[in-house]
Amino acid sequence: MSETQSPPAQTRAVVIGGGIIGCSTAYHLARLGWSDVVLLERAKLTSGSTFHAAGLVGQLRSNANITQLLKYSVELYDRLEAETGQATGWRKSGCLRLACNRDRMIDYRRQATTARSFGLEMHLVDRKEALDLWPIMDASDVVGGCFMPTDGQANPSDITQALAKGARDSGVRIVEGCDVTAIRCKDGRAVGVATTLGEIACEVVINCAGQWAREVGALAGVDVPLVSVQHQYLITEKMDGVDRSMPTVRDPDRLLYFKEEVGGVVMGGYERKPNPWAEDGIPEGFNFTLLNPNWDHFEQLMLPGIERLPALAEAGIKELINGPESFTPDGNFILGAAPEVENFYVGAGFNSFGIASGGGAGRALAEWIDGGEPPMDLWPVDIRRFGPHHADVDWVRRRTLEMYGKHYTMPWPFEEHESGRPLRVSPLYGRLKAAGACFGEKFGWERPNWFALDGAEPRDLYSFGRQNWFEPVGEEHRAVRERAGLFDQSSFAKFLVTGPDAAAALSWICANDIDRPVGRVTYTQMLNRRGGIECDLTVARVGEAAFYVVTGTGFATHDRSWILRNVPDGLSVEVVDLTSAYATLSLMGPEARDILEQVTRDDLSNAAFPFGTCRQIRIGGAPVRAIRITYVGELGWELHVPAEFALAVYERLVEAGRAYGLANAGYRAIESLRLEKGYRAWGSDIGPDYTPLEAGLGWAVKLGKNIPFLGREALAEQAARPLGKRLACFTLDDPDVVLLGRETIYRDGQRVGWLTSAGWGYTLATNIGYGYVRNGEGVDDAYLYDGDYELEVATQRVPCRVHRAALYDPKMERVKA
Ligand SMILES: Cc1cc2nc3c(=O)[nH]c(=O)nc-3n(C[C@H](O)[C@H](O)[C@H](O)COP(=O)(O)OP(=O)(O)OC[C@H]3O[C@@H](n4cnc5c(N)ncnc54)[C@H](O)[C@@H]3O)c2cc1C
Repeated sequence: MSETQSPPAQTRAVVIGGGIIGCSTAYHLARLGWSDVVLLERAKLTSGSTFHAAGLVGQLRSNANITQLLKYSVELYDRLEAETGQATGWRKSGCLRLACNRDRMIDYRRQATTARSFGLEMHLVDRKEALDLWPIMDASDVVGGCFMPTDGQANPSDITQALAKGARDSGVRIVEGCDVTAIRCKDGRAVGVATTLGEIACEVVINCAGQWAREVGALAGVDVPLVSVQHQYLITEKMDGVDRSMPTVRDPDRLLYFKEEVGGVVMGGYERKPNPWAEDGIPEGFNFTLLNPNWDHFEQLMLPGIERLPALAEAGIKELINGPESFTPDGNFILGAAPEVENFYVGAGFNSFGIASGGGAGRALAEWIDGGEPPMDLWPVDIRRFGPHHADVDWVRRRTLEMYGKHYTMPWPFEEHESGRPLRVSPLYGRLKAAGACFGEKFGWERPNWFALDGAEPRDLYSFGRQNWFEPVGEEHRAVRERAGLFDQSSFAKFLVTGPDAAAALSWICANDIDRPVGRVTYTQMLNRRGGIECDLTVARVGEAAFYVVTGTGFATHDRSWILRNVPDGLSVEVVDLTSAYATLSLMGPEARDILEQVTRDDLSNAAFPFGTCRQIRIGGAPVRAIRITYVGELGWELHVPAEFALAVYERLVEAGRAYGLANAGYRAIESLRLEKGYRAWGSDIGPDYTPLEAGLGWAVKLGKNIPFLGREALAEQAARPLGKRLACFTLDDPDVVLLGRETIYRDGQRVGWLTSAGWGYTLATNIGYGYVRNGEGVDDAYLYDGDYELEVATQRVPCRVHRAALYDPKMERVKA
């Protein structure tokens, strides 16, 4: 089908890998006008994981934009055959999901609401309706299910060949039998590749090498944290009662999926203890190759499979496919511009939904390459979400196997994972553990989520209702509002931005004015060219040419890369990562000053140490950078302490705080406190798709000053016309309703958006949610505040109220005075 030719010596872009992702990326680059593109495949197109995929195409994910990508795949597959003349085997057969217990049904109700929020159709069905769709099932344990009519199935090889044909028709050269053996880099940029058929100079290298993407990335010093896992499915001969009209089925309580194929059944699943593959590297020449079928291992899926489809017991078995596929430690794929090397892009690690993602992921990657930045917020799949621990393949494997085993288990709210822990711990870890901390993990760090009361076990008990930490977190919340709380936030990412041009560079990159006197602290966003929020952080000026930047735990790689990539040409700046050097203790609450005064001689009065400033203070012999700032809406300081002093400072504070009722507090209390105060969270309430004006953060932007900054033009343009969406705050008083985010917002009966974050506010005793209200003709105050609002929660509509201002503000004179 595809022709083989010699590669050229020079091209604009080299795509490595002829699976569905490489072909889709090349196809979409060509559609964007990049015809000078070469796709290199070491063997034949589809010969990696693509040829043996089962071909199910589902769309709904927990993130709106990733769902949009998958939706686009379906739109593309709808037209690809007509467009290219190449058969694709695409059928929009729908997908039925089965529920065998009440919790699963609650999850589907929530999913149906999420689907509606994201513009997808999903119906709940009862047992009879499920049986009507697959009459040969034994549905005696089924309590219900849901049906997504626009999901479908495709022939993975044919879809890939169609994409390749479309790409070739637009000028892309596809070279098979061409192995990339080295990546050429110069001055931190990818400038070419060496292959078994010669050298190719290029402007952009794109790594779509599937389970080989880790090795290909390593050729350029780029970490691609994925590992291979064996994945099996069964193909039967024709079976009575099975025909092409039947939808694909997911049966998560039995860890199974199945579908019709040529009158028989294809059935696979996700076993709890999967088998890794190629732990010491993928053998050479592994193409169009399957692994030996492992019937013993498959038994754990076969037995529940026969219970569900009793006719399977008698069916003729054509084949048990065992194919390796690349999986990642968080179950999401890996997309985007590598932080380590410029002009090097990755699209890999598709966790057995590469056929479903192929169209959308290829398009997003092509648009990212073409535009120089992601076309939309792709944070859940962004390659910059990984940290130093992801460079260790054994750690990655351990976590990945856990995630594979949880593919179909109940997706509990607030679920934590267990493998590879503890890994990164603050100096206070042991002390906090002894104090009853229940830790969660983020970016490898152990962080106290909450503290168990009265000797109770510090362990999350999952449910879709209020979980067991609800009361203890309430106690922590109240301590912070009424007295004081001490948070261990040592996992904050911290950078020192220095160099003769540090002020000029940050001035360009930050939307707020950071070029202020030494000792001033500025809350700011960093914007992309569209005015969208790429970073949300604080910048403390600690010297004429030194800025101490503090950002969220998970954003260390992303934010550092954003700063470095956006330093204007010719300016000299260094970014030093100080995350491990400093522990951070946040002392917050009305008694914070009184407590801190017990342990330091430094002047903490409002006149000497106002809000938004930072100074060096001394606590019991420790040099401490104290930053007066808050994310919880109370008087307080972030204390940045050299790691080796942290425990001593903590003990002093605890001792001094005893008389004031100081309490340990964790991240779940922070969430509830910040929801009441209206502080935005990057990754949910704000991100690259939202501008500060839409997010109500216009006050933190220097538009009124005559200072150029990245994103200014877009923002100025936006300020001159009505906003199409605006972040609003909603409350819903019924304590029996649990808001988790993604609930649909209705205004006067019309769907206008969904909640970006939500939770319980203990001081106000109400559910609080934030979400964008959208309207094509603009969202002005009258539109925003005059409507009647409802939230759809797990398919039920519940009235709610919209608010003009932050809900909680009583002590602002103490915070800001
Ligand atoms: C058993 C099984 C069932 C599956 N079922 C489904 C399903 O139902 N639905 C779904 O959506 N997904 C499914 N998948 C997943 C799907 O197959 C993959 O996600 C998808 O095929 C990945 O495509 P890719 O392009 O990333 O990788 P690949 O198809 O592996 O392509 C990568 C290519 O890169 C080439 N390459 C590697 N190194 C080099 C180099 N140095 N130089 C040149 N070329 C190189 C390889 O030869 C290979 O052809 C399944 C997977 C398995 C194993």
